[in-house]
Amino acid sequence: MDISNSQLELNGMVISPGIIIGEVCHYQAGSTEQTAVYKVTSDQVKSELKRLEEAIELSKEELIKLSKNIEKVLGSSEAKIFETHILLLEDKQLLNKIANKVKEENVNIEYAVKVIFEEFENIFAKMDDDYLKDRGTDFSELKRRVLSHLTGEKGRFLCRHECLVQKRKGRIILTNELTPSMISLLENKNIDGFITKIGGKNSHAAILARAIGIPFITGINIIEKIKCETPVIIDSNSGKVIFNPNKEILEKYNKIINKEKEKHEELKKTIGPIIKTNKGTELEIYANILNINDMIFYNQFQLAGIGLVRTEYLFMNDKDFPTVDQQTIIYSEIIKKANGHPVTFRLFDVGGDKNIPSLKFPEEENPLLGLRGIRYLMKYKKILTDQIKAICNSAKNGNVKILYPMISNIDELKKANQITQTIINKNNLSKKINIGMMFEVPSVFINPQPYLQLVDFISIGSNDLVQYLYGVDRNNANVSHLYKQDSIAIYKLIEQVLIEADNQKKDLTLCGEIDFNTNFFEKIIKLGIRKFSISPVTLPKVIEKIKEIDF
Ligand code: PEP
Ligand code: MG
Repeated sequence: MDISNSQLELNGMVISPGIIIGEVCHYQAGSTEQTAVYKVTSDQVKSELKRLEEAIELSKEELIKLSKNIEKVLGSSEAKIFETHILLLEDKQLLNKIANKVKEENVNIEYAVKVIFEEFENIFAKMDDDYLKDRGTDFSELKRRVLSHLTGEKGRFLCRHECLVQKRKGRIILTNELTPSMISLLENKNIDGFITKIGGKNSHAAILARAIGIPFITGINIIEKIKCETPVIIDSNSGKVIFNPNKEILEKYNKIINKEKEKHEELKKTIGPIIKTNKGTELEIYANILNINDMIFYNQFQLAGIGLVRTEYLFMNDKDFPTVDQQTIIYSEIIKKANGHPVTFRLFDVGGDKNIPSLKFPEEENPLLGLRGIRYLMKYKKILTDQIKAICNSAKNGNVKILYPMISNIDELKKANQITQTIINKNNLSKKINIGMMFEVPSVFINPQPYLQLVDFISIGSNDLVQYLYGVDRNNANVSHLYKQDSIAIYKLIEQVLIEADNQKKDLTLCGEIDFNTNFFEKIIKLGIRKFSISPVTLPKVIEKIKEIDF
């Protein structure tokens, strides 16, 4: 199929709405599964080995920094693992094996690194001793680290690098898959749209793309056949991607884009913390924010407050984990910008699909069921206590709440409360800071009473609720047809919690994503939810929907 210049229309799955016209820019996250293999000439062998030397040096520098950082945050025994990694990178036998592979087989260095590290990985994986078995993962981690310095695994633009950015033209990223950290690295780089091969509609990458208002379509399988700078249209209204659009199509879409802009401008005039449905039901609208820029939209719409600060995103790009003082500065800035309205800081919901580069995460078979959210924080208590201290320090600037992520068990909540309340009491803030928990794991919906007794408020996380109730990985496109908010089981759980929250007079907000293509929004309003926290860029759309509701 020659698709170099001819118009090509493909259907995909919409992850983030919007219509946009732009030019393709290939982006590669790099991955060990896709390591390139090619022959090198005898003359090139020397330069390949030099590249290895440089990559090893960079990896060691990175490990030294990480080790120091982790020692500060988590303690010296946790930092030891990185010292072992440094020693492995100095191992002559390992390095000689890699060099010999390049010399004897005339292959590129990336390939040699991959093959030799995997040989060691496999040897250890087959051992009976559990401790030695685990050492295999050290080789796996090291392989990724060294390859990241050889192939740019952290992500790089492939099409003549930054050419489109230099021209200050918007570009549409084409890549295999996006992670939250890739998206945050791509922020402020003239990105107007995303097209990927795979992706989940409710993944954190999707939430991030929606939060920054970038159209995103997945399920497009021919990305490697598309040349850099190919003109393209993303049409999320119909779930289409059109490469090389002809003149008529371009004209048609330019008109649609202008009309949408006018409509949004009109809807932006509806401002204020309360928006009424068609029948006058009042809904209180709060903002979900991921970074300080989201406060611009929040202020523009004059919302009721910040219902959810996903704090883990604030530090996603930091090389070093933020200190109490660094966190205090950012939290205070958000609180000041909220102008006296409440700001709910959700404690770091790291782990799962949100690995912050400056923190250490164990290799887990099922990270979404593993050390995520409060579970991670209870294991690494200094991270928890530092964050609570920073929130307390910032509390003098306004109205602050603390929200626990991923509580699934009552003891977990009791223990978290003990730690949080001790710090809050020390700061004489017990009357000032309310404590709440995310309701997002089915166990807490089934028996909500004891949880509600131990908190001041709750926030329903519909994204994880669907994921955990139905056992559907929210990041996995293969099972996304099973990911359904609009379902009787979900309504039953929400209704039960609404009744109990009402009995106990506890505040309830829904802060998860809302699928506006279904009746979910209308149904939960009818069930009794009156407070919503949403991504501020989606507000025009939300206002439009609220006004259509006959209740
Ligand atoms: C949720 O799970 O609905 C939620 C709001 O949290 P997150 O999407 O950040 O997991
Ligand atoms: Mg969640």
